[in-house]
Amino acid sequence: MSLKSYLKNIPGIRTKRKIVCFSVDDFGNVLLHSKSTRESLRKSGLPIDQSRFSQLDILENHDDLIGLFEVLTSVKDKNGKPACFTAFAMSANIDFDALEKNSWSKYEYQSLPETFSTLPGYEKGWESRKEGMEKKLLIPEFHGREHLNIGFLENGMKKKDPDIMANLQNRSWAALDYQGRVGFTEAFSFNHFSEVTEHHKIIESGLMLFESIFGKKASHFNAPGAREHNSLHKTIKNAGVRIIDADFIQNEHQGEGKYQKIYNPFGKKNKDGLNTVFRNCVFEPNLSEKSDWVDSCLKEIDIAFTCGKIANISSHRVNFVGGIEPNNRDFGLKELKRLLHAIMKKWPEVEFLSISEVI
Ligand SMILES: [Zn+2]
Repeated sequence: MSLKSYLKNIPGIRTKRKIVCFSVDDFGNVLLHSKSTRESLRKSGLPIDQSRFSQLDILENHDDLIGLFEVLTSVKDKNGKPACFTAFAMSANIDFDALEKNSWSKYEYQSLPETFSTLPGYEKGWESRKEGMEKKLLIPEFHGREHLNIGFLENGMKKKDPDIMANLQNRSWAALDYQGRVGFTEAFSFNHFSEVTEHHKIIESGLMLFESIFGKKASHFNAPGAREHNSLHKTIKNAGVRIIDADFIQNEHQGEGKYQKIYNPFGKKNKDGLNTVFRNCVFEPNLSEKSDWVDSCLKEIDIAFTCGKIANISSHRVNFVGGIEPNNRDFGLKELKRLLHAIMKKWPEVEFLSISEVI
């Protein structure tokens, strides 16, 4: 591990407790509709194999969730609690049918429970999500209203961009190229600062929808795809959020390609009164760049604890879903189980918590 791994763990709040949090993004997002639509997109010439997301990421189903709960409950921390995932979730998805009905002229979204009830094969998925939340195995927090940049989608519909239309007709949102500085999944990226005005409205409606779906206000926000502009923080705080994910050294876009550096020590309040946190450990078992993610994650947890920090493990749903490839889920869950048992063996005094329970 590099010196950098230690340095980022030095500033910010400290604790003598051995706390492990799993911060897992993308719950509730519809990226691919199904294996067959993935193949149609591939045939349309979209670069599906360039990313594990466009190869494997799909809404979590009943089997995925039941498998995940089994693994999380296979360990108990020093307080007798199982491991848990802070599930950074979407409140909504694209309402593809409504878009088709309006002849692809206007963006519309549907709430997350509507997505689960209308997508074939997901009838039991929402019930399992609720079960996981009741048992505190999944702690929902806010990952945005939807996992896409709406301006990007609207521009594409207006121009009848073939790649965007292929996605919408296939009920998916995958493998698209940048529009200027805006990535297709980056809800709060922009080319011109004036686009941020719309982001305030998306945040407000997304957080209201989150509360109505999950029966609680979100307390923690991690923007989808790329960081939000910090001028959104007042709106985020006014809606009840206390904590945001921020890069240790953030390169904030100001519009027209100008950037500004912002420093965010772990757990410190920023000028708008939001506690900033970052993820100091990574566990992405289906990302092939490392041969042993359990081993590298254990080393990062060790550095966090040595520096008196919470181990905040970053991961994504794509590691634990099998709707496209069941082997992907089975492998992700096997590796997660191996990680959890190794943590318990090395640090029996560990506590599995959500960041919002600590900060
Ligand atoms: Zn995400």
